[in-house]
Amino acid sequence: MHIKIIATIGPSSSDYETLKKMVVLGVTIFRLNFSHNTPQGFLPIIKVIRQIETELNTPITIMGDLSGPKIRIGEVINSPLYLGKGYKAILGLEGLRDKYEDREIPYLSIKIPEALVGLTHNMKAILSDGIPIFRVEEILEQDKVYLLEVESGGTVSSNKGINFPGKPISLPALTETDKKNLHDALEIGIDSFALSFVQDKQDIIDIKTEIKKHNVSIPVIAKLERANGVENLEEILQLADGIMVARGDLGLECPLPALPIIQKKIIQHCKKQHKPSIVATQMLLSMVHNPLPTRAETTDVANAIMDGADCVMLSDETAIGNYPLEVIKIIDEIAKNTENYIFERQTEPIKPSHETGPGSYLAYSACLLANYAKSRAIACHSTSGKTARLISSCRPFHRIYALTPNREVIKFLNFMWGVTPILSDKSIPVHLHRVESFIQNYNEFKPGDSIVITSGQPTPGQKEKHTNQIKIYYK
Ligand code: PGA
Ligand code: MN
Repeated sequence: MHIKIIATIGPSSSDYETLKKMVVLGVTIFRLNFSHNTPQGFLPIIKVIRQIETELNTPITIMGDLSGPKIRIGEVINSPLYLGKGYKAILGLEGLRDKYEDREIPYLSIKIPEALVGLTHNMKAILSDGIPIFRVEEILEQDKVYLLEVESGGTVSSNKGINFPGKPISLPALTETDKKNLHDALEIGIDSFALSFVQDKQDIIDIKTEIKKHNVSIPVIAKLERANGVENLEEILQLADGIMVARGDLGLECPLPALPIIQKKIIQHCKKQHKPSIVATQMLLSMVHNPLPTRAETTDVANAIMDGADCVMLSDETAIGNYPLEVIKIIDEIAKNTENYIFERQTEPIKPSHETGPGSYLAYSACLLANYAKSRAIACHSTSGKTARLISSCRPFHRIYALTPNREVIKFLNFMWGVTPILSDKSIPVHLHRVESFIQNYNEFKPGDSIVITSGQPTPGQKEKHTNQIKIYYK
């Protein structure tokens, strides 16, 4: 399986046995959702994951998901409350509730003032799971209070998330709560962050600045879940280390029928920039209750793989579902079938685009060579992880073993399609020799196997350590 699996941890998957089996079945990244617990609250689980990591001698990446400015309604009187088509409700600031009490229609209160700025007549407001859908009927107080009419009926209950499709919200993605969670999570050794509701590059600058204060350098995944986040994809992608197609909120913020193509476009852009992409939410949702997915879900996972995603992410399926292990097995089987199909048709590695530098052509050459030399694998020494990313972008048939001495990079490599991260032996001075030593000692490679190696050695007198050599190594 070349695609990587991210599993969200929750009550269904927090025990040692389940976590360990998930890793054995192919999960390389666990997501801790800070909307549901604090970093401290997750500490026992983090400890178990670290234990499993040592026992299985395989790097496991823990991704902390920072909730960003998720907008929720407050307490709803008589919640849950069914509102049919044509019913009215008031949407307004929490503090103005009393003023509208005598109207005797439900008041949906909002604590974050910025969320209500700029709503205009006929704009839509959708509650969490897509029902009910409201339309702004009248502006009662500009930027503060609105009369809504139900367009499509459903149940309103307290504290539900609310989305205003297409409306940018002038709030930075990194909230004060996120900053605290980020700090606490780094204290207990998180490996990467996902930031929710990213809208532009400033959001990435903000989180990177915050991470830097802790003297670490760990990857940041930008969750695209607002229309303007998608519009600003290029600038976000320049600074973020990867992108998540966060289809849950994105499917409410953008027209749902446009979602499949938005997904494809985001993945294509990521591939061009050699950055990992993650397809998330409702991949195999029915498996929360059923041991088998629907036909449409099975096809959705296969399509995400064919679109060229690096990772697929499971949310409720592994967090609260009844079949947290079966769901991984199903992805593994879908991936095998789909990847076989891809490699039947795509017999050559993917050529880099013209704009890319010599590094991508070196990576491409290594993939070509591995093909024609009928090699067992490709092994690269990649101090920063860049060469591994470039090789992965060519989508070679061969497994990519990426050696790095840097433990932070190891954890990032887990996001990359087809890459197996390996900690390199720093006691060996020459990078090429580190890779050769790994090949010699790695039992999966048999005498006579050929492995294509890429590594970098500066020319005497030069400091730059670019990858600059390719070698076929015969074990
Ligand atoms: P969430 O993000 O699960 O944190 O909401 C993913 C999504 O919206 O798809
Ligand atoms: Mn979301």
